[in-house]
Order: sequence, then structure tokens, then C-alpha cells
Amino acid sequence: MKINPHKSFGTRECPGCATEVAANENICPICGYLFPGRGPLQRNLVWIVALLLGLLLLPLILSLLR
Ligand SMILES: [Zn+2]
Repeated sequence: MKINPHKSFGTRECPGCATEVAANENICPICGYLFPGRGPLQRNLVWIVALLLGLLLLPLILSLLR
């Protein structure tokens, strides 16, 4: 029994050139199309982290102002 490390990820069709691209690849190796896979989530994550940091630092800043 052989395990193909590329098979478990599956494939998706590139909208640019209709080539089957591995699902774990974000850029098409044929035409260089950039898949918009994890972009929005990462952008939201940055905002969530910034908000949490702000909430953590807010009492500190308020105590310093007093
Ligand atoms: Zn392509």
C-alpha cells in the first residue's frame, strides 16, 4: 500500500488555464494564477489580534493616564 502525499490534498481547476492544480498550492505552476484561498481569513485574523491587543492594552493606558 502506497501513500501519495499529494493525493490527500486533492486538486482544483485553475480558472486561468484549466489545469488541475494541487489544492495545497496557492499559485498555479503553469500560468501563475493566484488562488484567493486563505486571504480573507488571514486579513480578519490580523484585525482580531489587533482588537485583542487593544483590549489588553486599554486598561494599562487608562491607568497610566490617571
Ligand atoms: Zn493556471
